[in-house]
Amino acid sequence: MSTVCLALASATAAAEAKPTMVTSIGPIVGGEDGMVVSSNNDAARVGAAVLADGGNAVDAAVAMQFALGVAEPGYSGIGGGGFMMIYDADTKSVTVIDSRERAPAKAKAGMFLQPDGKPVPFELRRTLGVAVGVPGALAGLQAALDEFGTRSLAALIEPSIALAEHGVVVTKLLADSLAEHGAILTENPIASAVFFPDGEPLQIGDLLVQPDLAETMRTLADDGIDAFYRGEIGEAFVAEVKAAGGKMTLADLKNYEVTFDEPLTGRYGDYELFTAAPPSSGGITVLQFLDLLETVGVGKHAVGSSARYHLVMKAMQLAFADRNAYLGDPEFVPLDLGAWLDPKYIAKRAALIELDGNTCPLPPGDLGGMAAAADLVDDVRADPQTTHVNVADRWGNLVSFTTSIEQHYGTGRMLPGYGFFLNNQLTDFDPRPGRPNSPAPDKRPLSSMSPTLVFRDGAPVYALGSPGGPRIIAAVAQVLLNLLEYGLELEPAVALPRVFSDLCDRKARWEPGLPAAVRTKLKQWGHGLRDDPEDVGDVGVIRREGGTFVGVADPRRDGVAVGLTRTE
Ligand code: GLU
Repeated sequence: MSTVCLALASATAAAEAKPTMVTSIGPIVGGEDGMVVSSNNDAARVGAAVLADGGNAVDAAVAMQFALGVAEPGYSGIGGGGFMMIYDADTKSVTVIDSRERAPAKAKAGMFLQPDGKPVPFELRRTLGVAVGVPGALAGLQAALDEFGTRSLAALIEPSIALAEHGVVVTKLLADSLAEHGAILTENPIASAVFFPDGEPLQIGDLLVQPDLAETMRTLADDGIDAFYRGEIGEAFVAEVKAAGGKMTLADLKNYEVTFDEPLTGRYGDYELFTAAPPSSGGITVLQFLDLLETVGVGKHAVGSSARYHLVMKAMQLAFADRNAYLGDPEFVPLDLGAWLDPKYIAKRAALIELDGNTCPLPPGDLGGMAAAADLVDDVRADPQTTHVNVADRWGNLVSFTTSIEQHYGTGRMLPGYGFFLNNQLTDFDPRPGRPNSPAPDKRPLSSMSPTLVFRDGAPVYALGSPGGPRIIAAVAQVLLNLLEYGLELEPAVALPRVFSDLCDRKARWEPGLPAAVRTKLKQWGHGLRDDPEDVGDVGVIRREGGTFVGVADPRRDGVAVGLTRTE
């Protein structure tokens, strides 16, 4: 563990006699008066500075989102949306601010179909104007501040204007992403000029400077989010979507409203879990997974054993079978999620778990309502990307916030003159009409984001979440299992190799470090495994231990935790 101590409080803070904080920065650190965890160093520092200056966890999370839009512009930003889960220590209540993108009013059920009725291939679909959802990001940040914040949006955006103007140092994560997924940008002269100066992708240590984005944020600071939802930025956005073949109008932006969602709740042993409800599939799938494993007594098997990995894969497949068949935006698809977690239903499903076999297919359970056939569209898609932050403040408020523009660089289209990407979040719809997750006007596509808070005896213990598309669910669920069932310390709980198995007849993903003996055994039990290891998510966690916080950033990305402690 490497920690660095430095004074963060600003001159203004000192002048106003605000408490001076020292911070510890590293992959795992402690702090008595606050904590931020992010996959990005710049965002973590921006968030920590807000806390040091007396801002609360929501203020810090908002400032971090703007910083992430600068430092990880291909993963999230003004052009996207997400789910912010907030624990308000005053009222002891948990709220989810849902800023998920919506389909425009002119969206059509068959908008992703070719003339022959087949879905447009994913690599083309992701670039289409009809793939762009009405962004909820700014509305979500403003709503969070209105309800829970203590600072203005203008103040919280300020540090990120400076980052965009003066530049951020290109991280390994960004350099790798450009090398692997940047080809889509080479067709876009605006984005190429930013990310491929002189025709070559930016490298680790280069400076990423974004003057157009700085100007956009300055406009937002001056004129508020109406500059997007009712003003010049929105007009330019809509024009660009139309130029790409979409049907979005300024009315879609004006009509966009976030929802304040009730979190989904569940239990594991003594712990109470709060997680995101639909339109994210994340929470219910995580909760079903954990209930199934608790029911089969997974704890009898050692945490690294083949048997434990086998049970994890079977429980995941069962939970994904229900997810894939039934879930959609609850404004369009009636869902009785109580039935999904009913102990009798869980026991019936758990009885399907073979101890040493992998019989396929594994059908969804009988949950009533509208169900889709289990055949998923065989999209060949790169891993989508997004980002997750956790924040805790000295008053005991917590934020767990996942936010995204879907694929790396969204549609690959950067808004000319404004410097941010158009999301391609509507590709999270099932492209085929007549299903729970088919496109429809104003509908939100199913997400996998799983921001989660865990309580014991009414007190918060953990905040966590991950990026990674459907693998978010696998990553968050396995870390929860490691913490709540196996009682692992934070670092091993996050580092332990994870697996991802959504369908029993699809080759499972496994991470580096999964022992060869375990892989051999899993194959003997009938599991198909991919040839090479790949990461499954990137889980940041904050744990509250009495009055102290411990934060851990996942070693899979460049992330850091920053802990704050008052010196006086
Ligand atoms: N489109 C994905 C979702 O909403 C983005 C999440 C991610 O890539 O991590 O689930």
